[in-house]
Amino acid sequence: MDSRPRRVAPGVQSQHAVPADLIERTRMRISVDRSLCEIHGECTFIAPQVFALNDSGDLEYVEDPTGGDSEMVRDAASACPAQAIRMEP
Ligand code: SF4
Repeated sequence: MDSRPRRVAPGVQSQHAVPADLIERTRMRISVDRSLCEIHGECTFIAPQVFALNDSGDLEYVEDPTGGDSEMVRDAASACPAQAIRMEP
């Protein structure tokens, strides 16, 4: 089962669909180096659609966000005190 946070409920279509070319231009993959991450939580405040702390206090994140999330993810990566967030285009 996929435990990553979802932006919309399964099966629900967004009323504001992101154009396919924009998705392609902003597609990225995210990884968090868990050996560096100290669960500061800054990323969860800056990009809550992508990063979240679960009930156990562990960080969960969307590995392949698309659309308008890229700028927030960049801001979260810049703000991470441990420099644990990696982004690949
Ligand atoms: S801001 Fe960095 S150190 Fe803090 S929870 Fe996010 S990835 Fe981990």
